[in-house]
Amino acid sequence: MGLDFNLKPSQDEETEYKTVDLDPEMTYDVLIIGGGPAGLTAAVYCMRKGVSTALITDEIGGQVTSTTEIENYMGYMYVEGEELVDKFEDQVKQFEIAYQEGKRVKSITDDQINQVTLEDGTTYQAKSIIVAAGKSSRKINCPGEERLTGKGVAYCAICDAPLYADKEVVIVGGGNSAIEAAIDLAKIAKEVTIVQLLDHLTADEILIERLEEYDNVNILYESEVAEIEGENKVENIVVQDTQQNNKQDIAADGIFIEIGWIPNTSFVEGVLQLNDYNEIMVDCKCRTNKEGIFAAGDITNVPFKQIIIASGEGAKAALSACDYVLKS
Ligand SMILES: Cc1cc2nc3c(=O)[nH]c(=O)nc-3n(C[C@H](O)[C@H](O)[C@H](O)COP(=O)(O)OP(=O)(O)OC[C@H]3O[C@@H](n4cnc5c(N)ncnc54)[C@H](O)[C@@H]3O)c2cc1C
Repeated sequence: MGLDFNLKPSQDEETEYKTVDLDPEMTYDVLIIGGGPAGLTAAVYCMRKGVSTALITDEIGGQVTSTTEIENYMGYMYVEGEELVDKFEDQVKQFEIAYQEGKRVKSITDDQINQVTLEDGTTYQAKSIIVAAGKSSRKINCPGEERLTGKGVAYCAICDAPLYADKEVVIVGGGNSAIEAAIDLAKIAKEVTIVQLLDHLTADEILIERLEEYDNVNILYESEVAEIEGENKVENIVVQDTQQNNKQDIAADGIFIEIGWIPNTSFVEGVLQLNDYNEIMVDCKCRTNKEGIFAAGDITNVPFKQIIIASGEGAKAALSACDYVLKS
C-alpha cells in the first residue's frame, strides 16, 4: 500500500473532539480565559507549540455568536457568525486541550504559579495566563432590565431587529450604534422611540441625516429609562425627563440598549494595569504589567475591535506565553 500524502481532513469530515476536563491538581503551562476569537486562536497556537493548555470560557464564540453577517474575515467573502464559531470550535477541539465551557472566572492571582478562581470556587493553576475575556454590552441597570433580557430587552439590533416587524420599540442611546439600530428598526417597526440622555445625538451626521428620512421615529432628549415593565415580556417603558423629572409611559414590545461596551476586566482589577476605559494595558507582545500574564483581543488597549485583530492578537499572546513558559 502506498503512502497517503493527503493529510488534510476533508471539509465534510466531522471533526472528532478530543478535549479533556480541567484538572485542579495540575499546573498548566498556559491557561486561557475566554473563548472568543482571541482565546480560541491562542488555544490553537499553544496546542501546536506542544505546551499543556487549558481554556475556560463562559460561552464559546464570544461576540461573534451575535453577528449575523461577516464580510471582512479573510478567506470568507461572507460568513455567518455561528458558522465561523463552529469552524473555530472544530479547530480547537481537534486537540486534547483541557476545556471548560459555561464557567466564569472570578479572580486571578499573580504569584509565581498563577491561580485562577471560578465563580463556583474551583481553582486552577498555571505558569502563565492569557486573558481574552472580551467585552460585554453596557447595561442601564434599571429595574426590569435583567429580568426581561431576552424577553424584549435586547443589546444587538443586528441580531434581533427582524423580530420587531410592525411592533413598537424603544432604543436607548444617541451614538452610532443606537442610530444604526434606529434606522434598521425604522424600516420594519411600527414606531421607534429613541431615548437619549444628552440634548443632542452624538452619531455621525450622515447617519442622523439618514434617520431623518423616517417619519415613524420620535426622539426624547435629556431623558433616561427609569424602569422596564412587563410580566413575561416587555410591555411598557417608563421614561424620565432628567430636567423636569417628569415620567411618561411608552408602550413598547421591545427595547434595544445601545450605549456601548465595557471590557470584562472586573476579575483582574487590582492585579493588572488598566487604562481609563478599563482595558488591560499590553505591549506589542501582549505582555501585561505582570510577568507571565498576557492579554489579547477586545479586552486590551489595542485599537480597532475586530475579529481578525482579536485572532491575530490571540496568536501573538500565545507565542509570547509559550516563549515565557519555555524559557522560565
Ligand atoms: C453585533 C456585532 C457585530 C460585529 N460584527 C463584526 C464584523 O462584521 N467583523 C468583525 O471583524 N468584527 C465584528 N464585531 C467585533 C468582533 O466580534 C469582536 O472584535 C471580537 O469578537 C473580539 O473577540 P475577543 O475574543 O477579544 O472577545 P469576545 O468575542 O468578546 O469573547 C470573549 C469571550 O470571553 C468569555 N468571558 C467573558 N468573561 C469571562 C469570564 N469572567 N470568565 C470566563 N469567560 C469569560 C465570553 O463568554 C466570550 O466567549 C462585531 C461585534 C458585534 C457585537
